[in-house]
Amino acid sequence: MSDASIRERLCLIGASIFARGLTFGSTGNISVRHPDGGWLMTPTNASLGELDPASLSRLDESGQLIAGDKPTKESFLHRAMYEQRGEMNAVIHLHSTHSVAVSCLNGLDQHDCLPPLTAYYVMRVGRLPLVPYYPPGDLELADAVAALAGKHHAVLLANHGPVVAGSSIENAMYAVEELEETARIYLMLRHEDTRPLTPEQVEAIRRRFGVA
Ligand code: ZN
Repeated sequence: MSDASIRERLCLIGASIFARGLTFGSTGNISVRHPDGGWLMTPTNASLGELDPASLSRLDESGQLIAGDKPTKESFLHRAMYEQRGEMNAVIHLHSTHSVAVSCLNGLDQHDCLPPLTAYYVMRVGRLPLVPYYPPGDLELADAVAALAGKHHAVLLANHGPVVAGSSIENAMYAVEELEETARIYLMLRHEDTRPLTPEQVEAIRRRFGVA
C-alpha cells in the first residue's frame, strides 16, 4: 500500500467511526504502521470526522514525530501495543459510550471484563483485561498497557475506554466495533438471567478459528 492510500484509508475509517457515533468531539485516535517504518497517527485535537490526509502525524519506531502535525497526547498507548505486538499493524482507541460505561462499573473481573456472549466477540476480541485508572497523559498507563498487550490485542482502560490492535486497520475497526456492541448488549442484559457461552463452547470457537 502506498503512503497516499494508507493516509486515505485512515481518514475514511476515522470518518466512518465518527459518523456512527463511536466517538465524539476530538476524542479517539487511530494509527497504522507505515511500510517504511514507524507509523501514521491522528493528530492532537483532531476530530476523527474531519481528518486531513496531509496533516496526519508521521512517527518513527520510537514514537518521535518526524513529519505532520503534533500527534495525539495518547500516542504512547499505541506505542505500547506496537512494541509488544509485532504482528499488529493498526491500533484504535475510542471513548465509545457503552465500552466506557462498562469500564466504570464496580466489580468487573480484572482479567476479563465482559462475558463471552457471542461467538464473534470470542473471535474478534477474546479476553478483555481491565487496565487500572491513571489520569490523562500519565505514562504509567503506557507501562500498564504494555504489561497486558503481550497476551491481549484488546484492553479496556478503567473509566476511559478501549484500546484495540489489529493485523490491519479494518480488523482493528471490526474488533473495536464488536467490543462496543458487546458492551451494549451486556448492559442491556445486565439484570436479566443471561446464558453466556460455556467454557467448552468458547474453547471450540478458539480451536476452530485459530484464536490465540
Ligand atoms: Zn482516551
